Amino acid sequence: AVRTRFAPSPTGYLHIGGARTALFAWAFARHYGGQFILRIEDTDVERSTPEAVQAILDGMNWLGLTCDEGPFYQMQRMDRYREAVAELLDKGLAYRCYATPEELDAMREAQRARGEKPRYDGRWRPEPDKTLPEPPAGVEPVIRFRNPVGGSVVWDDLVKGRIEIANAELDDLIIARTDGTPTYNFCVVVDDWDMGITHVIRGDDHVNNTPRQINILRALGAEVPAYAHLSMILGDDGTKLSKRHGAVSVMQYHEDGYLPEAVINYLARLGWSHGDDEVFSRDKFVKWFDLSNITPSAAQFNTEKLNWLNGLYIKASADDVLAADVSSRLARRQVDPESGPPLDALMGLYKDRVSTLNELADAVEAFYIDVHPAQELLDQHLTDTARSALHDLCVRLQTVDWTREALGGAIKEIMKAHGLKMPQVAIPLRVLLVGQPQTPSIDAVLEAMGRERVIGRVTRYL
Ligand code: GLU
Repeated sequence: AVRTRFAPSPTGYLHIGGARTALFAWAFARHYGGQFILRIEDTDVERSTPEAVQAILDGMNWLGLTCDEGPFYQMQRMDRYREAVAELLDKGLAYRCYATPEELDAMREAQRARGEKPRYDGRWRPEPDKTLPEPPAGVEPVIRFRNPVGGSVVWDDLVKGRIEIANAELDDLIIARTDGTPTYNFCVVVDDWDMGITHVIRGDDHVNNTPRQINILRALGAEVPAYAHLSMILGDDGTKLSKRHGAVSVMQYHEDGYLPEAVINYLARLGWSHGDDEVFSRDKFVKWFDLSNITPSAAQFNTEKLNWLNGLYIKASADDVLAADVSSRLARRQVDPESGPPLDALMGLYKDRVSTLNELADAVEAFYIDVHPAQELLDQHLTDTARSALHDLCVRLQTVDWTREALGGAIKEIMKAHGLKMPQVAIPLRVLLVGQPQTPSIDAVLEAMGRERVIGRVTRYL
């Protein structure tokens, strides 16, 4: 059965690139009815934080990328790694190296002076006819992996195609430090083996680790998984995606008013395609996604497209669902969502005019807080003609039936009586009601805002 994993290092929040990797690994497992495993690679104790672990869990939870096993924490598996190191030592597939950092510096210096690429020269590597020096007293050794000499490591990357690396290019990697702690590549290998990972799906910043990891897996007698290295994601401007490009943390998108389904849809198309399909559900994606049709070149982030998709998902959402979300957004701004019309009633009016939930909250806020139209809008739109028309309108509004139809009728009467066109009445009215010259249909806005509030907001400016 297919088993994939997402293996983030908790040194920061879950960013867009990580989320895309997680989504692909998750979807691939789902596609084949397999398992998706979450593994927290927290061995870099200096940079790993519990907050970052939480941020990653929150991000995955928000996106609905649930794991079948885990989260596993590498720091809780130290004994297992040590055991695997010991096993390699026993089998002669790893060895102790007593070279001090100073010695190794000197070695590399000399290599560079000879115009060679610096690499460990195997001075502590046992060979049949070689006598090793006496281990120096008081020096704790590192453990090095005995990398095969000659030949090459080859794998058929499911994204990048066949990759071949000569063993001559690979050093005898340190797998345990002088204090006995295992190193990054070694932990990954033991975990992928123990967790029965069949497909390693990860960013292509790890391509260089793969031949080393394959060699270690073979030494351990493990089956080598398939690898799929996803190309990186560039920002709108074509440079590597980073904080400069605004929201790169997944939870920041939540904060900014994106729907998880829209983000999933967007991420799915980031470096993968299914014909011309742009808008599709999570289920469709799972049905289609089998690691084919992944673009090997870098994918470019496009905020406009994300906004477009998010707008579509907002428009397709039920009013009560949107209202519940917008209600908490208003509350966070200290705006009381109980202090005006029921939010549900406004969602239908505004949901096809916005691209984020924050914009939706912005748009309806005026129904719950007092608005003070900008002076220049008043100067521009509240002419004497408008004033006198609005005055008469307010009189009419005291008694009119408070239905959209009747309200529309009342406005038309006033227009006629004053010889004005619709915008000459509707625009000043909008400015007074919500502080903006544009809104959905004016009769609908009046209806939603309610008689008392409408008359109050208009008359104080007349
Ligand atoms: N922990 C690594 C990272 O966060 C991923 C390692 C892997 O997927 O093999 O980049």
